[in-house]
Amino acid sequence: MKTVYVDNNATTQVASEVLEVMLPYFTEFYGNPSSMHFFGGQVQKNVNKAREQVADFLGAEPSEIVFTSCGTESDNAAILGSLDSYPEKRHLITSRVEHPAIGNLCTYLGRKGHRITELSVDREGRLDLDELKESVTDKTAMVSVMYANNETGVIFPIEEMGEIVKEKGIPFHTDGVQAAGKIPLNMKKSTIDMLSLSGHKLHAPKGIGVLYIRKGTRFSPFIIGGHQEKGRRGGTENVPYIIGLGKACELAKKHLEDENTRVRALRDYLEQKILERVPNVLVNGDRKNRLPNTVSVSFEYVEGESILLLLSDLGICASSGSACTSGSLEPSHVLRAMGVPFTAAHGSIRFSLSIYNTKEEMDYIIEHIPPIIQRLRDISPFWKDYLKAKGNV
Ligand code: PLP
Repeated sequence: MKTVYVDNNATTQVASEVLEVMLPYFTEFYGNPSSMHFFGGQVQKNVNKAREQVADFLGAEPSEIVFTSCGTESDNAAILGSLDSYPEKRHLITSRVEHPAIGNLCTYLGRKGHRITELSVDREGRLDLDELKESVTDKTAMVSVMYANNETGVIFPIEEMGEIVKEKGIPFHTDGVQAAGKIPLNMKKSTIDMLSLSGHKLHAPKGIGVLYIRKGTRFSPFIIGGHQEKGRRGGTENVPYIIGLGKACELAKKHLEDENTRVRALRDYLEQKILERVPNVLVNGDRKNRLPNTVSVSFEYVEGESILLLLSDLGICASSGSACTSGSLEPSHVLRAMGVPFTAAHGSIRFSLSIYNTKEEMDYIIEHIPPIIQRLRDISPFWKDYLKAKGNV
């Protein structure tokens, strides 16, 4: 059975070029970059080269790049590192549609006595800048809002938000994990103070991340230990993964054009054909302002998990917009925050493409989606009720 992988917002395949540059660091160049001898020194030199590659990709200075273990650590470090620098301020602003790496941390901080404001989104998943303006107070320690949403792909107006936040002299963090490699990012021309990135979303391995920290931003280390990363993150560097991430960033910069033309066209083709061939389908999120690789569709009156399993039987890997909590399949917090109707939210599927996807793969999905939805609707009591209400049966 062939595999059609369209779950790239969950994780991506490691690029062969990335793996190739990593391998010698497991065997030949295993020195510790902190060691004084030549064997450590040569590794240090290449860690610095990777730091330059990441900085170049983000339009940042190499000294502004801190390597971490993943996107979640970067998010935690940004928020906790910032709060620690402003102990007199106990208010934090975020959004209702963040990844759990931010959302659950904020819930935890709320329990510990911080005041958390979660900005709402409209039916299209868009934020209201006026709500942000009204929420900022002199007790606000920081604002953290994701650049692009992992489920819907909706891109937030991060630079405009940054202007509002910076006017008040408040640090501004964005979770750029889904944006990096899909849309251009340039920290030189940005209002962002801190940005999180994760290697496994851009064809580097799982277990490596970056926190960009603009020069001059107040920050306390989240992982306290040795002097690594200029005292901003203790722990011996994960050298092979850092080398791999450097290469992945170099490739991502090169492929950005392809991502925004060919991948976007494939995504649009898939979306269009699904809308043409299946009745009662909604696209979730602002279609004008979305990541080029992502589409979240809701098939009304069927369950997303059933669709996923039938797709999986055919080798198609996608994901659903539900979270299995305490045995009941609740629609995701993102779709709930957007007010997607119950009958649609339950049947939502996210397809997220990469530069490795082909038109043949899209055709394979398009061929199989209509009979799968038909089969599930044939046994759905909600669909029967809907048809009855329409007078079709
Ligand atoms: N932030 C967003 C928006 C994500 O989509 C993810 C992963 O899905 C993360 C953070 C967490 O990244 P990691 O898996 O590297 O911890």
